[in-house]
Order: sequence, then structure tokens, then C-alpha cells
Amino acid sequence: MKLQLVEKKQETPDVTSFIFTPQEPLTWVPGQFLHYVLHHEPTDERGSDRWFTNSAAPFENNVRITTRFAGEKGSSFKKKLFSLKEGEEIEISLTEGDFTLDDPSQKHVFIAGGIGITPFRSMLTQLAYDKKPINVTLLYANRDEQVVYKEELEEVAKNNPSFTIHYIFSPEHIDEEKITQHIPDIHTPIFYVSGPEPMVDALGETLKKMGIAQDHIKQDWFPGYPAE
Ligand SMILES: Cc1cc2nc3c(=O)[nH]c(=O)nc-3n(C[C@H](O)[C@H](O)[C@H](O)COP(=O)(O)OP(=O)(O)OC[C@H]3O[C@@H](n4cnc5c(N)ncnc54)[C@H](O)[C@@H]3O)c2cc1C
Repeated sequence: MKLQLVEKKQETPDVTSFIFTPQEPLTWVPGQFLHYVLHHEPTDERGSDRWFTNSAAPFENNVRITTRFAGEKGSSFKKKLFSLKEGEEIEISLTEGDFTLDDPSQKHVFIAGGIGITPFRSMLTQLAYDKKPINVTLLYANRDEQVVYKEELEEVAKNNPSFTIHYIFSPEHIDEEKITQHIPDIHTPIFYVSGPEPMVDALGETLKKMGIAQDHIKQDWFPGYPAE
């Protein structure tokens, strides 16, 4: 299916959201991702397709890629994506992924490393729209104070007292100490971890070491990014 670019939204100096309208109605569950093809020449060795979370919430009826631009050392795919103009198209196939909420009424801890916030935007925005309780503590690691979706997330938190956000800025990072500092009873909530592959792997190990049951840990790995 083809999608048409309708808006580019600069989230931070190096992160942009690309908002597309689908040609036909598209269904997905918050937290899922899509496979995108963007033909371009010349194409580098990383090719003309990628996976990105659909960071839009289903009620928004659009597809949103939020991604970081690496400048000159970035891929030919990203250069093409960032050069797209409104009205231009990208192809998608397959909606996939089980990084989705099984039971929103449960307590959750969302751990995001940088751009790993994308599936959480979709989940939290949809819960807020549906006026469902948001029993979530978000631990959000960033390299600096340029925080993606900061205003949107804080607006959701303002209207939902059971949703709290804790920012962790480099050189601090999310570790056992930070988790126990912010989460009083670590054995109750379900932990969702999303971000660069090395960070998600490391935090999965940390949570296991802390005695969190495997069925209380869900992970979403983004390749192509170093640890936040
Ligand atoms: C399920 C899933 C969901 C995802 N969701 C998102 C999302 O919402 N937002 C998002 O930004 N990304 C997401 N990703 C990651 C995305 O698919 C890309 O891997 C990532 O954005 C890097 O893009 P890029 O390869 O075009 O590199 P660029 O971002 O252009 O480059 C980043 C830097 O990493 C280096 N690099 C990247 N890949 C490689 C490689 N394979 N080998 C060597 N060096 C490399 C580049 O040289 C550059 O220095 C997701 C991935 C998966 C699997």
C-alpha cells in the first residue's frame, strides 16, 4: 500500500516526525511497526527498506515515522526520507509486532532509550484519547534535554495523575539503582523496554538479575543505534 506524506514535524533539532495518510484504511495496535520501502538511487548497502514503529495512535488515522537524522554519515534511505516533500509517497507492507499492551488496567513501567519512545507515544496517546486509566511510570533516558514528544507526554501526564515521567539525562543512565529509586514495588508492574539494541539487551539482563519474572518483561529492539 502507498502512503502520502502530509506533514513533517520537527520534534527536536535532529528528530523529525513524518506523517502520512494511507490510501486505504489501515488497522494496527499501538506499539506495532511497519515495513517501509522507499526507492531511491544511489542506494547504499543498507538498502531501500526499513522497519519503523508507527508512532501514531490508531484514532489519529495516519502513519507516523519518528526518526533521527545522522547527517552526512546517515544512510541513503534516511537522506531520501528527509528530502521527501508533502504529497510524495512511501510504500508499506506488513503491520507486525507484539510489543503491545496486553492489559492496560495493570501497572506498567515503560523504559525508553531516546528514539525508543515511539511505541509508547502510540500507546499513551490512544489511552488518553480513550479516557482509560494510565497506570504507567515512564523512565525516559536521553543524551540531552532535547526530548522527543516532551510537551505531548507532559500534557497526558497533567490529565492523568497515575502517569508519571522521570527523565534521565546522560551521563546518568537507567540502571538497577534508578529503577528501584522510582519503582517502589518492582514485582508488581509489567516492564516494557524500548530503544537501541544494546540498551534493551542490557536492561533485560538487569531486570532479570533483579528477580523480575520473564513474563513481566517485554522488549522492543531498534538496530542501527548505539546505546543512549
Ligand atoms: C521493530 C523496529 C522498530 C523500529 N522503530 C524505529 C523508530 O520508530 N524510529 C527509528 O528511528 N528507528 C526505528 N527502528 C530502527 C530503524 O529500522 C533503523 O535501523 C534506524 O533508524 C537506523 O537507520 P539507518 O540504518 O537508516 O541509519 P542512520 O540513522 O542513517 O544512521 C545512524 C548511524 O548508525 C550507523 N548505522 C546504522 N545502521 C548500521 C548498520 N547496519 N551497520 C553499520 N552502521 C550502521 C550509521 O552509519 C550512522 O552513523 C526500528 C527497528 C525495528 C526493528
